Amino acid sequence: MKHLIGAHTFVSGGPASAIDTAEKLGFTAIQIFTKNNNQYFARDLTEDEITEFKEKLGNSNVKFVVSHDSYLINLCAKDTAGLSKSRQAFIKELERCEQLGIPHLNFHPGAHTGLGEEEGIKIIADSLNYAHQKTSGYKTKSMLEATAGQGTSIGYRFEQLKKIIELVDERERMTVCIDTAHIWAAGYNIRDQKEYKKVIKEFDDIIGLNLLKCIHMNDSKKELGSRVDRHDHIGKGFIGLEGFTNIMNDKKLEKVPKVLETPKEKDQKEDVENIKVLLGLVKK
Ligand SMILES: [Zn+2]
Ligand SMILES: [Zn+2]
Repeated sequence: MKHLIGAHTFVSGGPASAIDTAEKLGFTAIQIFTKNNNQYFARDLTEDEITEFKEKLGNSNVKFVVSHDSYLINLCAKDTAGLSKSRQAFIKELERCEQLGIPHLNFHPGAHTGLGEEEGIKIIADSLNYAHQKTSGYKTKSMLEATAGQGTSIGYRFEQLKKIIELVDERERMTVCIDTAHIWAAGYNIRDQKEYKKVIKEFDDIIGLNLLKCIHMNDSKKELGSRVDRHDHIGKGFIGLEGFTNIMNDKKLEKVPKVLETPKEKDQKEDVENIKVLLGLVKK
């Protein structure tokens, strides 16, 4: 099996710096922020930054790039101003991805903060329809990430992700990302081999594995069903090596790019170690 595997990679200076780091550390798949993730907006990318990123990417071993949107964006924010700001910021994020040729913008569906899940799901779909209309013809897909269901976060059941997709007009612009720590915390037991198979079958039956375009590979500091989102190093948390053995040897997920979002310092040496652990689980 040849896995596309890597990690969320820091950008210092222009986005092309992430490709340099990825090459140095041997990543074949990466995730980046195209701007500061704690801000709604940023200055536009320059032509030089775009060209440099595309050139470096084209000449690298990195075969998959996904961008994660700003943590501030909430596509079902309760207050009108917050919702409007989130939508504009989401559109800007899509624009940056499109400019850089990044095929997926990963985002958390949203937190309904009291509106209720059903209403939240409707507003998220409205937000996506609005954003897609404003970015008509874009190649970049909107990638829904499964969540841990912390607080009032939506997307902790596969059914909720499916509902959102169903309400989106341009469904071909939707893809999905599983985060192992999130779904574990949401109550999907991927550690036990038999249960793991059921979880993947459930995902396939409800959403379809054809829409699964990325897996965030994170162990969990919190227990099954805790609904708390805390990432840990591979094998150090509650999912454990058993859970990651299931994933790394699942033929159905072989072609799905795998990206770490585990704790790390600036030099990202921890990522290299975690990748080594993951690849060591692959049965010959
Ligand atoms: Zn995320
Ligand atoms: Zn994630």
